[in-house]
Amino acid sequence: MFLSIDFEDFAHDLRRVLGVWDTGPLRVDALWRSFETIDAFLRAQGGPQGSKATFFCTGVIADQAPDLIAHIAGQGHEIACHYHFHDSMTTQPPHEVDTMLARAKNALEQAANAPVRGFRAPRFHLYREQPEQYNLIERHFSYDSSSFFSSAEACARFARKMALTDLKLVPLYAARFRGRGPKVRLGGSYLKFAPGSVARDLIRQSGMVGIAPHVYLHPYEFSDTADFQVSRTDLGALGPVKSGYWAVRQNQWLRFGGDRLLEKVAALIPPEGLDGRLDAWILQP
Ligand SMILES: [Zn+2]
Repeated sequence: MFLSIDFEDFAHDLRRVLGVWDTGPLRVDALWRSFETIDAFLRAQGGPQGSKATFFCTGVIADQAPDLIAHIAGQGHEIACHYHFHDSMTTQPPHEVDTMLARAKNALEQAANAPVRGFRAPRFHLYREQPEQYNLIERHFSYDSSSFFSSAEACARFARKMALTDLKLVPLYAARFRGRGPKVRLGGSYLKFAPGSVARDLIRQSGMVGIAPHVYLHPYEFSDTADFQVSRTDLGALGPVKSGYWAVRQNQWLRFGGDRLLEKVAALIPPEGLDGRLDAWILQP
């Protein structure tokens, strides 16, 4: 089982997505604390390979906290790219996507002092009807882990549809539990809300359809709720109704079930431990 981290500043990104600001100061101290918690979790639970993992980081973190990116890389983890800002790429024009991919990769490589070879789109949002966005990713990166598939064959079919030649895909698995209800993913809020038995079943199914089991998490799932919570005052520009709504809505991500999430993840890790960095696996010769 792989465990990867989408390393982003929820408080910064929520304000950007709601139009409160284009960008502003990150909560650098909170990001440092969350990294230390993640790193300690991996050292305690990951096993011999899995004490190192892949961190898909937004480029803005490399801009504002290059020491943190350098530190994560220095601890032996893989720095991969989670776009420059945590934007939904779906509707962005090709030139903007290309610019943001290059900007993020460059900032992360400078900070990490290491090549950045993996990519994951924010919120897994990519335009998939035509190959253009995937082809831009292929221009900058060696592998992509932005898409969910029901089987390894479905992933291979998709790679052909996107006309990929060099870019490797690291598929994530999503499925209906026992064939019913909405699709569930092995990560983030899905993992918070789903009982451990559902997650275990998904891991088993994932292996059966040829997709390496893979759980993804975020810094705020390793942190105190307050670390990344945006107050109603900070959202004041939205007006009283909307700022109140979003102040409450965050609890879904930041609070509910978070205290038990790491226990849940630890219980999913097989006896041999986690599988470690994605680049070491997908890019091996
Ligand atoms: Zn993200």
